[in-house]
Parts: sequence; structure tokens; C-alpha cells
Amino acid sequence: MSHDDPERPLVELAAAQTKVLDACAPLAPVVVPVTAALGLVAAADVRSRAALPAFANSAMDGYAVRAADCTDPGVTLEVVGAVMAGERATAVLGAGQAVRIMTGAPVPDGADAVCPVEQTTLTIDGAKVVVGTALRAGRHVRRPGEDVAVGDMVLHAGDRVGPAHVGLLHGLGEDEVAVVPRPRVGVLSTGDELVGERDGAGSGRIRDTNRATLLGLLTGDGFPAVDLGRVGDDEDAYLAALRAAASAGCDVVCSTGGVSFGDRDAVRAALTSRVATRVLAATEVAIKPGKPQVFAVLTDPELRVFGLPGNPVAAVVSWELFVRPALRTMAGLAAVHRPRVAASAGVPMPRRRDGKIHLVPVSIHPGAPPVCEPSGRFGSHILSSLLAADGFAVLPDGDGAEEGATVECMVTRPDAVLGA
Ligand code: AMP
Ligand code: MG
Repeated sequence: MSHDDPERPLVELAAAQTKVLDACAPLAPVVVPVTAALGLVAAADVRSRAALPAFANSAMDGYAVRAADCTDPGVTLEVVGAVMAGERATAVLGAGQAVRIMTGAPVPDGADAVCPVEQTTLTIDGAKVVVGTALRAGRHVRRPGEDVAVGDMVLHAGDRVGPAHVGLLHGLGEDEVAVVPRPRVGVLSTGDELVGERDGAGSGRIRDTNRATLLGLLTGDGFPAVDLGRVGDDEDAYLAALRAAASAGCDVVCSTGGVSFGDRDAVRAALTSRVATRVLAATEVAIKPGKPQVFAVLTDPELRVFGLPGNPVAAVVSWELFVRPALRTMAGLAAVHRPRVAASAGVPMPRRRDGKIHLVPVSIHPGAPPVCEPSGRFGSHILSSLLAADGFAVLPDGDGAEEGATVECMVTRPDAVLGA
């Protein structure tokens, strides 16, 4: 059937994305050990129940002193003890006295400043120290609560838990934290033509590449992935695989293939007529590649299903535009779409008018502005075009971009674009 079939008007990309994202919400929060929270989104505010530092301690190796004794340089003080990091300060400092102290050791009672060792001279018997500098109260002393005070907010609901959050929560003695879990995603390939990686291809048979690619994308983004294998163009086998996915704890299934209007497009048929759905979008989206799309929210079992097109580049584009933003929404993230950058076309990037947005795999070179150029031939089956891709040029309907023209690019490898 033609692209311009009046019976099947194309849906604009933004409308199709809205339909999907409106049907996705953050998963119910769970409480996990702090170490397991890395990369997840906090489900609730966390206020500190402890102070950090918990006690006044020295910022330097040197001598704890009373600032009142050291208003002028050159004062000689009596050394009455020593305190190492990890020890308790037993000595109480009186007037004219000093205590040898190491970085991180508790400042003894009576002391209110530390003189760095480099600015002191010890008498030969070690009994007295000359303080070579004037000191104000608080000098080189880390105050309790100076980093975090009791009641300070250390994690906001919606923050992504980073390494420093994990470290700080440990430092404050917190064992657990409430987070939004990541959705668990099953990946399924469909098509009678597919064989396994080690099976012989040829004679109309091809090796399944989509499953490995999608599993890789999921793993790269930290989403737990379940390999659901492959099924033929068979509605019953497809529905059985969905039930297996639900039993395996999947929140989402991504299948590829079978969503066009060919004779054997079992996925579209199964999702539109064989299951109970709360949301169903079986559409053709005004993008190339990636036009045929099916998205369904099943009610029994409760499962979100993306029926992505089978062509390898179309499947990846669909992942970028629909699946990844949906998974990020479910994971509680606020920024769900890839960042975009205005790049300059390094070469002419012509296209023809067809009513669709074209998503052209590009390499993007750092610069002001960055420069983009196609990273391979443009075609929904040209998987090799993604090998060197840092993103996709988003070419609106029209004649394309001349060399030097500004092209909006969806960036999938931000590090490369920054030159990292
Ligand atoms: P379909 O969307 O089922 O019409 O498939 C479109 C094209 O993608 C066909 O050429 C399929 O052979 C190919 N294709 C479908 N699934 C896969 C897969 N898992 N790996 C590689 N190519 C595929
Ligand atoms: Mg097929």
C-alpha cells in the first residue's frame, strides 16, 4: 500500500509521542539499600538526621591551640598531648597549652584553632611548640554540621541518585532510600525469516539483529532487560510470548517486526484484535524510518507493548523516539527526550518531500557550531549507518539541508559531541 493512503493518514511525531507518554507514569516507589539506588530517581525528599562533620575536627596536621593565646605570631605553648585521626580527644586544653593533632582528629575541648605543622617549631625536647603565626578562632577547624546540618535536604524527590548522594547518605548513616524502580523490559523478535545468530542464513533466512541491538540499548541505559527470544509471524505465539514476559516480571515488551500491513503482520493483528487494551495506538507516524508503529497498554496482564517496525534502523529510531522516553518516564526521570543540538551540515543533505520528518544517522564533530554529516547510507535496513552515529539529523519535510546550513540533531552520544 502507498504511504499516502488516504484511509490511513499519517500521525505527526509529536502527537504520537504524546499518546505514548500520556500512557506512562512513574512506577510505584520501592525502598532499596542506598548502594542499590545509584542512577535511580528519588521518590521522596530526604532530610539529614545527622550532622556532617559529626564533631569539630582538624583540617590540618599541626597543633590544636586556643586562638586567644595566639593573637600574635611567635607564642610558645606547652605541648600537653597528641590526638590522631580516629582517636578520642582526652586532653582538655588550658591557657598556654597545645595538643599535637592530625587531619580529621577531634579538636580537644578548650582548643578553637589549629596551627599547621609547617608554621610551628618544636623545642628539642618536644615539650614546647612555637606557633609562628597569629590565629583567629575557628582557623583550620571543621565545624560540626559545616557540610550538612541536621534537617538539611540532601536528596530531593525527582533527583537522580548520583555517586555523591550515595556517599553522603552513607556518611549520614542512612541505610535505605525510597526510589522509583527502573522498568523491566522484554525484547522479542518476530518474523518467519529470522534464524539464530549461529544458524545458517541465506535462502530467504536472515539472522536476527534487532534483539541484540535493543538488548544492548537497554543495558547501556541501565534498564533490566529480558531476552524473550524470537517467534514466527504467528499471533498465538506472539501472545504466548507476551504472557511469558508478564510472568517474568516485565513491565514493558518491545517487539520488532510484524506491524506493517503485509499478509503476515501478526503483531499488529494480535494487538489490535486479540487482547484487551486500555490504550491502543496502531498508527503510521510521519517519520522515516519508523513509520509503522503499534503501542498498546494491555489490561490483562498489565503490560505496555511497543510493536516496533522490523527494519533495523527503523527499530532503533523507534526506540529513541518512543521507547526510551517512555522508559525514562516510568523510571521517574523528568528529562525524557534526547538533547538536541543545532549543527552545521558538513556536506549537502538533500531529501525529498514526502510529508515526513527524516531521521538521518549522523556523526557529529565537536565545534561551535558542531558539524554533522551522514554516518552511512540512509536507509531503514542500513544497520551499518549506526556504527559511527552520534545522533540523528532531524530533517523536516522539504528539500533537505545545503552544506553549511543549520541542522537540528538529536544527540545519542553526548560525549562524542563534546569531544570527550
Ligand atoms: P517487518 O517489519 O516485519 O515487515 O520487517 C521489515 C524488514 O525488517 C524485513 O526485511 C525483515 O526481514 C527485517 N527484520 C525484521 N525483524 C528483524 C530482525 N529481528 N533482525 C533483522 N531484520 C529484521
Ligand atoms: Mg515481518
